[in-house]
Amino acid sequence: MHSQVVVLGGGPGGYAAAFMAADLGMQVTIVEADSRLGGTCLLRGCIPSKALLHVAKVISEARDMGEWGVSFGKMKLDVDTMRARKEKVIDTLTGGLAQLAKRRNVRVVNARGIFVDSQTLQLEGGNPETYESQRITFDHCILATGSVPAMPKMFSIGSPRVMDSTGALKLEEVPKSLLVIGGGYIGLEMGTVYAELGSKVTVVELLDGLLPGADRDLVKPLHKRLEKLFAKIYLETKVLGLEDTGKQVEVQVEGADGKETLTFDRVLVSVGRRPVSTGLGLENTKVTINKRGFVEVNDRQETSDPHILAIGDVAGDPMLAHKASHEGKVAAEVLAGEPAAFDKAAIPAVVFTEPEIAWAGLTADEAKRDGIKVEIAQYPWQASGRAIAIGKTDGLTKWLVDPETDRVLGCGIVGTGAGELIAEAVVAIEMGCTMRDVAESIHPHPTLSETVAFAGEVYLGTATEVY
Ligand code: FAD
Repeated sequence: MHSQVVVLGGGPGGYAAAFMAADLGMQVTIVEADSRLGGTCLLRGCIPSKALLHVAKVISEARDMGEWGVSFGKMKLDVDTMRARKEKVIDTLTGGLAQLAKRRNVRVVNARGIFVDSQTLQLEGGNPETYESQRITFDHCILATGSVPAMPKMFSIGSPRVMDSTGALKLEEVPKSLLVIGGGYIGLEMGTVYAELGSKVTVVELLDGLLPGADRDLVKPLHKRLEKLFAKIYLETKVLGLEDTGKQVEVQVEGADGKETLTFDRVLVSVGRRPVSTGLGLENTKVTINKRGFVEVNDRQETSDPHILAIGDVAGDPMLAHKASHEGKVAAEVLAGEPAAFDKAAIPAVVFTEPEIAWAGLTADEAKRDGIKVEIAQYPWQASGRAIAIGKTDGLTKWLVDPETDRVLGCGIVGTGAGELIAEAVVAIEMGCTMRDVAESIHPHPTLSETVAFAGEVYLGTATEVY
């Protein structure tokens, strides 16, 4: 078997690369170990988590309606129906991908691919009916093997009560009590789901704040809200060990108050993700892997092997689906001989909790670290008519502006729907807009999007405090 381009891995990086390469006239094969295309994002990441977060949001909104004099009866939960609905969402999307591949004549081989050399993959397992020989050769391979949840040895105790994000998304049950180890975005999103469904959720984070790396001004309103939703949030606390007692899990933690033993029905370990760069036979190629396990690439997604490009989670941070897809398209264009390159100026990141947190471009921490002079313009949502009208005033919109040119360099938003609002900031940063461009573009009233312009007016000194 030979293919001009082989894409190894059919996640959002891999399928975007494959489809683009086919559209650019190349003959393409995707080799994917899973029986379906979609990768982490569709099968066990972005999509199922957002489907469940939608349920969590509706429950939370219904509860908040009490303030408006509207109340509902006791919540009745049918977990089987919820799980089935989530699976239907996944089926719809993966089915769509299969059709899109077919329409473009992209061949999909269901097998695990292992490099024999820089131009050959050995095919193993999967569905042998999808491939007629054990090896496939190629002119170029786009490596898109993604990442898997990190599971440190001390947490791998072989207990069915200890799960990773994939296990949590299966929604086998709603445990009475759940410990989330790790206060990153995946832990907080899944913690939110389970808490709204009725679990007593506790979070343990090693560092001194939730969402390490995110702007503290943005995290503050979320922390406040989660303190009410969750049973307890432990910061600067280390998990020393887990023990399955047969009915529950005993967890030894150590924080400022010393050691403590806590008991939970289930434990979710969400302490990060590991790139899939080992066990692929990459030692048989010229690809270089860095100390953190990421495949080293340049801004054209080229590795140190002239026949192999790499994209997505396996090719470095941030591990996000839209970054993977964008890199995939760049890789395909590079193979087509186009002068494409990936500029990481404004990759948005969103935490889909309530309130949501979103940011794009330069962050305050990065500006400080790199000695970049910025002016900060912010607009608290307590002054937004729409936020007051819908009872969502725990928000903030914040711009980072170059004081010399007035160019917008970064934006951070916390508040309901921040993930949708950040898209405007992405365009503004990408287009090199000034703060005046944003502030003087007419935003619809009354919307939360006005806060994006109002923060600009604060910067320009033209704010008139119109609700
Ligand atoms: P992946 O999606 O991981 O796909 C890699 C594919 O390669 C897999 O299908 C795998 O089976 C296949 N593969 C691996 N090795 C081989 C091999 N040897 N042979 C054949 N096939 C192989 N990102 C967002 O942008 N927004 C979100 O809201 C979001 N939420 C998330 C929620 C959760 C719970 C998780 C876990 C992740 C979330 N992510 C989110 C991250 C997102 O899923 C990843 O960044 C994205 O899937 C990376 O895409 P990828 O194509 O690089 O790799």
